[in-house]
Amino acid sequence: MTREDKELLAALERALKAQHLHMFYQPKVRLRDGSLAGVEALMRWDHPELGAIEPSRFIPIAEEHGLIDDLTLWGLRTILRQWLDWCEDGIDTTIAFNISALSLQHLDFPDLVERMCRALEVPADRLVLELTEGATQPLVKLMDTLTRFRIKGIGLAIDDFGTGYSSLMQLRQLPFTEVKVDRAFVDDVPRSRDCRLIVQTVTELAHGLGLTATAEGVETLDQLHWVAELGCDLAQGYLISPPMEPGVLGVWKKAFRRAWPKMMTEEPLALWGDVEADALGER
Ligand code: C2E
Ligand code: CA
Ligand code: CA
Repeated sequence: MTREDKELLAALERALKAQHLHMFYQPKVRLRDGSLAGVEALMRWDHPELGAIEPSRFIPIAEEHGLIDDLTLWGLRTILRQWLDWCEDGIDTTIAFNISALSLQHLDFPDLVERMCRALEVPADRLVLELTEGATQPLVKLMDTLTRFRIKGIGLAIDDFGTGYSSLMQLRQLPFTEVKVDRAFVDDVPRSRDCRLIVQTVTELAHGLGLTATAEGVETLDQLHWVAELGCDLAQGYLISPPMEPGVLGVWKKAFRRAWPKMMTEEPLALWGDVEADALGER
């Protein structure tokens, strides 16, 4: 471990105690009508001296040095309490939580999550766990644990689908409820016929297996229109909203409902479709 990592790990342990960690939430909307389908919780760390530290920097350190379970438990407690706060404000939505495959190695973990939900009276089906396939942690090995979560009604999303180690086989074998099409494909959808084909094929496959298809990283109207046209059910990305503080979700929801019809009609399909009229061989 480098000295820098060591210092970061110690600081992360302190941050957990000192409440310098918090959660931001990014909405996922239904492409059918722009309604809120759920939010994804994303961990944030405000270091007193170094400023904001990205989760992609501190999560791997926590995973490697035994702090990930503490972060997972803190995260779960935080989002369940947040669900209650929103519920009081009239927003009953699902919350997706990114979970490290390492935290799933404990067989009793699904029971623990269920107990936490029960204790706070949060219905378990309002929770979705987002998982990524890693080189050292093939998800297939976690079949038992994943099945236990599903039996309890907790949703399971496969994250960053199509990159890294994710494979078609897992979609069939594991009890997922949602596939999140990686941002890399969504990014290139307006320019690349290949990417459109990939997004459409993954979406059709997801639907064939009874899963929801979510397009991640939607940043432009073009991408939004395309992923809707290609059949995705849900979209998430900076265009819809960057991750936000929980207190502003209600205001965002109202503003977005008003903005949605215009977003979908601003550049009609017929116009931008001309750029590559042969899209998917259908035009
Ligand atoms: P992820 O689960 O794939 O999360 C999506 C990341 O993309 C987030 O970065 C989000 O802020 C960013 N993003 C969202 N929309 C857009 C967009 O339109 N364009 C672009 N370029 N980026 C977008 P973030 O918050 O920095 O998180 C990075 C990764 O850290 C996450 O990737 C996830 O794997 C991990 N992570 C975040 N929070 C947690 C957590 O509570 N627990 C665990 N185990 N991992 C977490
Ligand atoms: Ca995720
Ligand atoms: Ca992702």
